[in-house]
Amino acid sequence: MSNGSQILVFKDMGLVSQVFDETSLGSLRGHIAVGHARYSTTGASVWENAQPTFRATAHGSIALGHNGNLVNTARLADMVADLPRQDGRATQVAATNDTDLVTALLAGQVDDDGKPLTSEQAAARILPEVRGAFSLVFMDETTLYAARDPQGIRPLVLGRLDRGWVVASESAALDICGASFVREIEPGELIAIDENGIRTSRFAEAKPKGCVFEYVYLARPDTDIAGRSVYLSRVEMGRKLAKEAPVDADLVIATPESGTPAAIGYAEASGIPYGSGLVKNAYVGRTFIQPSQTIRQLGIRLKLNPLKEVIKGKRLVVVDDSIVRGNTQRALVKMLREAGAAEIHVRISSPPVKWPCFFGIDFATRAELIANGMTIDEIGTSMGADSLAYISLDGMIEATTIAKPNLCRACFDGEYPMELPDPELLGKQLLETELAGGTDAADALRRP
Ligand code: SF4
Repeated sequence: MSNGSQILVFKDMGLVSQVFDETSLGSLRGHIAVGHARYSTTGASVWENAQPTFRATAHGSIALGHNGNLVNTARLADMVADLPRQDGRATQVAATNDTDLVTALLAGQVDDDGKPLTSEQAAARILPEVRGAFSLVFMDETTLYAARDPQGIRPLVLGRLDRGWVVASESAALDICGASFVREIEPGELIAIDENGIRTSRFAEAKPKGCVFEYVYLARPDTDIAGRSVYLSRVEMGRKLAKEAPVDADLVIATPESGTPAAIGYAEASGIPYGSGLVKNAYVGRTFIQPSQTIRQLGIRLKLNPLKEVIKGKRLVVVDDSIVRGNTQRALVKMLREAGAAEIHVRISSPPVKWPCFFGIDFATRAELIANGMTIDEIGTSMGADSLAYISLDGMIEATTIAKPNLCRACFDGEYPMELPDPELLGKQLLETELAGGTDAADALRRP
């Protein structure tokens, strides 16, 4: 939060409601702010890696939040190590995440005469060097900036309030704070908003490759991405799934809540009634986002409870959005059998996830992905279902109405939207490993 002359950062680990209360919010006074909430991708879940990241600059300071994940982290760490030392200000990185490197680079740029660059000049120089998925919001004392990677992998939107501007990851956030949608930040675009209004510039040519998984699961259903409603995409995925993988059954139920729109579409297209067979505990988070496997396994039973009266004796179609490790669905099938279901037919509104994501979804390594090395029938058997079917890749893509070449669908088909560095330079713990291992980059990171 900036009051025009000073930035105050307030951050901690946990849910927003655990971190902020009225007192802490009351202490944040000013007219420019950035906020951030996400689970960790690159870098461990520790306080230092919580965002916004913060750096002092020659002109003041900079605070930055990032949605996405970078793939040239090792090179960015080298660039940070090469930053000129500046009196009284540390250029070294305290955190171990990709985001903090970008903040350090933005803060540390100088011109040929050694004169510090402004945040805007630094962004124009640094952003073309950053690879991967990045929807960024950052600020100095007087200006709010937003930038989106050239592929536009993650969404980022601009909204208008009566007396201000809002930038948010999803259009649903604009609705919640009463802002009207203006437009998306374009892939490869940098915008700056200050007392003079809004300026736009381009740091790279747009090569759109929006994440198709946003339409399947990630984004809120009440969000629009690239002009397409996420909810309608999910319903259409369900309709297509019903046509591609029909089954004789009595009731369609969803894995709540992310499977609900596709289940509604499946019921509509198949003519099988839709019902609510599982109750979700509203206070438990998304399962694959829990950081450890133990918590994840516990989380599944905490998360859903079957409605025995609804499912007893019924032949069920259970619609879910995706299968990553298969733990959720295995536990679910077992619960439904125990609750008396006569048959369980699992239908999935995205194709098998076979490849890791390097752009901000901490799915799993390839070895952990259940669709790797197992046929669809084997997966169905392993989870105890009477049948299992997935939507086709093209069916899912058509449901989004976005042209296939403009979507990243790498976790499904292995076609990554950009060149990736060697696998050992892509790990979640890359910077921790380097720090522990005493490599050149680690030495550089430790240097004051
Ligand atoms: S790999 Fe999958 S989850 Fe990752 S950005 Fe691409 S489509 Fe989205």
